[in-house]
Amino acid sequence: MMEYICSECGARYGEDALVWRCTCGGLLGLPPPRAFDAAQVDVSEPGLWRYAAALPTIPAARRIRIGETMTPLSGSGCLGLPAHFKLESLLPTGSYKDRGSAVLVSKLHALGLTEILEDSSGNAGASIAAYAAASGMRCTIYAPAANSPGKLAQIRAYGARLVPIPGDRAAVAAAAMAAAQSAFYASHIWLPPFVAGVATMGFEIWEQLGRQAPDTITMPAGHGSVLLGLWRAFTALRRAGVIGQLPRLYAVQSAAFPALAEAWEAGAGAPVPTVRGTTIAEGIACRVPLRGKAALSALRATGGAAFTVTEAEIQGAWARLAGGGYYVEPSAAVAGAGFLKLCERGVLDASGVHVVILTGSGLKAPAV
Ligand SMILES: [Zn+2]
Repeated sequence: MMEYICSECGARYGEDALVWRCTCGGLLGLPPPRAFDAAQVDVSEPGLWRYAAALPTIPAARRIRIGETMTPLSGSGCLGLPAHFKLESLLPTGSYKDRGSAVLVSKLHALGLTEILEDSSGNAGASIAAYAAASGMRCTIYAPAANSPGKLAQIRAYGARLVPIPGDRAAVAAAAMAAAQSAFYASHIWLPPFVAGVATMGFEIWEQLGRQAPDTITMPAGHGSVLLGLWRAFTALRRAGVIGQLPRLYAVQSAAFPALAEAWEAGAGAPVPTVRGTTIAEGIACRVPLRGKAALSALRATGGAAFTVTEAEIQGAWARLAGGGYYVEPSAAVAGAGFLKLCERGVLDASGVHVVILTGSGLKAPAV
C-alpha cells in the first residue's frame, strides 16, 4: 500500500482515503519512489499495467482498459539531431493523460465511487471522461469555454456533462472546486495516483531502449506532471541499481506561461504565478505549476533545466515535426522547439541518446 503525504503539514493518508487534499488545504504528494527493477515488470501486460508494482494497489480485475499499449519510440532526424520520439498521441484518447487517468479512475472506481468531476484545459478532461465512460461512472468536466472545439467535442462524445467556463484556467479550477461538494473532485493535478500513472512513461522508455536510460529527455511542461512522472520512474530504476544515472530532464514552457522556467533561472525554490501573453500551446497554459517545488527539485536532481520557447519557435517545430511525418498538437510541438533550442546552443550532440516526448495528437487542435 502507498501513503500520500501532505506537502504543507506532513500528514499521511492511506491510498484508499477518499480525499483530494489534506484537511489543512495542502497538496498531497506521493512518497519517494521505491526501487523498481526488471523482475517487477509484469510482461503479460501490453501497456502501463506492466508497472503495476510501482502504482497504487488496483486489483487486475478492477483495471479499466480501453486498449492501452506501449507507445512507440520512433527514431527520427527531422529536428536536426537523431532523436527518439515517444508517441504518446497513440494512447486511446490521443494524449499521455491516459496513463494518469487509467490509474486514477480505476482506483476511484475500485473504491466504490459512482460519480466524479474534473477540470481541464481539454486533454485531461477528455481522458478522464473516457475512463469514466468505460467504468460506468457519471462524470462532469469543467473546461475553458475558449478551448479547442475538438477537445470539447471529445469530452461530450464520451457522455460526460461538459460545463464550459468563461475566463482562464484558474477560473475553471475554482468553479470545479466549488462544485466538489456534490461529486468527488477527481483532479488530475491534485490527486497523486495521476502522477504515479504518468511515471509508467519512463519505465516504458527504459524497456524500449534495451533497459537503458537515455542521456536526455525533453518534454513540454505546464503543471509538470510529465517531468515528475519521468523523475519518479528513473529514480526508482536507479535505486534498484539497474541504471547508472538519471537522464537529464529538460522542461520546456511557452514564453507566455513561464512560471517554472523563470523560477529555474532565478534559482528559486518555488515558482510564482506568471502570465506574459497568450499561446497556441493551450495544454501547458498554466499560470503556476501546482507541484512546482517538486518539479524544480526534480530538475536539480537530474542536472536538467527549464526554459521557454516563443510562439514562432513552437510553430516552426510543429511544421518540422509534421514534415517528418509527426502530426502533433502545439503543446507537443513545444518539446520539439525545446529540443531544437538545446541543439542550437550545443547542449545536445549526436553522440547522446535523446528522447523527445510528443504528448498529444494534432487531431486534437486542427484549427490551430
Ligand atoms: Zn496538511
